[in-house]
Amino acid sequence: MKKENLKRTLRKVKGAQDRTIVLEGKELLNFCSNNYLGLANDKRLLKAAQESMKTEGFGAGASRLVCGNMAAHQELEEKMCQFKKSEGCLVFSSGYMANIGIISALFSKDDIIFSDRLNHASIVDGIKLSGAKFKRYPHSDMKALEKMLKEFKEIKRKVIITDSIFSMDGDIAPLDEIVRLAKKYKSLVMIDEAHALGVIGKNGRGLAEHFDVEKDIDIQMGTFSKAVGSFGAYCCGKKELMDELINKARSFIYTTGLPPAVCAASSKGIDIIQQEEALRKKLWDNTYFIRGELTSAGFDTQYSQTPIIPIVVKDSDLALEFSKRLVKEGVFISAIRPPTVPNNTARMRLSITAKHTKDDCEKVVEVLKKVGGELKIIN
Ligand SMILES: *Cc1c(COP(=O)(O)O)cnc(C)c1O
Repeated sequence: MKKENLKRTLRKVKGAQDRTIVLEGKELLNFCSNNYLGLANDKRLLKAAQESMKTEGFGAGASRLVCGNMAAHQELEEKMCQFKKSEGCLVFSSGYMANIGIISALFSKDDIIFSDRLNHASIVDGIKLSGAKFKRYPHSDMKALEKMLKEFKEIKRKVIITDSIFSMDGDIAPLDEIVRLAKKYKSLVMIDEAHALGVIGKNGRGLAEHFDVEKDIDIQMGTFSKAVGSFGAYCCGKKELMDELINKARSFIYTTGLPPAVCAASSKGIDIIQQEEALRKKLWDNTYFIRGELTSAGFDTQYSQTPIIPIVVKDSDLALEFSKRLVKEGVFISAIRPPTVPNNTARMRLSITAKHTKDDCEKVVEVLKKVGGELKIIN
């Protein structure tokens, strides 16, 4: 990996996640976190966590099935049921653990899983753990998906799994069409709303809300680690589904419950998402401004439709050089290289938040144009 310049190392951030961060001693404009609504350092989340610690302490002490099922876990699940209009909800320790737990609990060798080629790694790992038949369809290609569904229509249990908003490309899945195909071929549907919850949908409930197909999605997974500003993940769906997961999902059973204070902070984040539509509006205003400026400057932002904007430069070394020069100019946008993205699609992955000011947005555009010009990525 070192020889191919693909070896990665950790960089230390001092202080909190905000519109700026202090990276290895230098204050930089932060355009690469998933903290879309800026809640990761919101006083109200901190206060909710502190209040919870006064009565519930810090650690959960045990698995939730032993004695670690604390009030904060259940309150968060109840809140999610109300917010998502879902019969049931189960909180997992992280998005990664939710995906590997849900998929491996529900599907096995007699079943078949259709998965978008750009789905998150945790979905792929969950599928591998499940032992189910695994068919990848080309990214958002509904013709290819239909062909596969037809080819395997004899298999009784089928599921289509997709990210809602694709994490490295910023485009959205054609959920309306996926739901239509699922009905036609009697397939289940599972979505991963990690980047969509709090970001998209009239009330911030995600892409299923955006397409008005919430009732048609069997398994709705998402995380509290991105727009919600906290940590942990959820699965929403029927009560029976929750019973199945509580009894079968190994990443739920064999792990300690989340610290209750973390769940209290997540609950507060969900409240804020419901109460402060203005945050979502600011996020989208910033997004439209920056994406518009970058495309008119000649950058290739692919099919981005969301606050995640890729600037694909293909070559890994070039992406690294791009990132390094941006740091010199006071902006942090990380280079994303294989294997996180397919070979020869190295990119800068810009992610925008509601906390960025107009000045921040203008500055990032100006600096990207300057460095992009120097590196001949734009003319
Ligand atoms: C970030 C992410 C996850 C993992 O969530 P964590 O809570 O960070 O473990 C899962 N799926 C997608 C699509 C993600 O972007």
